[in-house]
Amino acid sequence: MKEDKKTLERMLEGNLPWNQLKPIIGDQKDSNRFDKILEILQAKVKWNEKILLPLHEHLYVVAKDGKRIVKCDCGYEFGDYQINWKTKCRIRVRDTIETIEQLYPKYMGSDPEWEELREYYCPGCFILLDVEAVPPGYPTIFNFLPDIDTFYEKWLSRKAPDK
Ligand SMILES: [Zn+2]
Repeated sequence: MKEDKKTLERMLEGNLPWNQLKPIIGDQKDSNRFDKILEILQAKVKWNEKILLPLHEHLYVVAKDGKRIVKCDCGYEFGDYQINWKTKCRIRVRDTIETIEQLYPKYMGSDPEWEELREYYCPGCFILLDVEAVPPGYPTIFNFLPDIDTFYEKWLSRKAPDK
């Protein structure tokens, strides 16, 4: 199936019906799909730093002043991509029956003695970026540290655009 930009854009937005999405998942990948996706994402954000890699919903690794930083689509900058962006978030911890029952019906949530819910919000736009369900005291989870240079060199056969 031909992966035109419009189709990829609908795929990224979650608006592609299954009968159109399935062949894209199953088919040979279009070799410049990554570039098309970057182009679509870059056109959506309001800032100009070059996106090197989409990292997470709303978050990107971008090139800025010779550094690679994590940036939210609202423009908030989390700093060095090798440092867990969650440490810069506004965090809400649900560790009491009352706060857990705001989400779950009575007796349907977890026991706060065993598990707490941590909600990570962007300090710039307050969008919910991630939720951890972990035992109390568990360290903040570092979701993903991409090897950007290897990705560009081994998978795309070129240097990352900031190198
Ligand atoms: Zn934001």
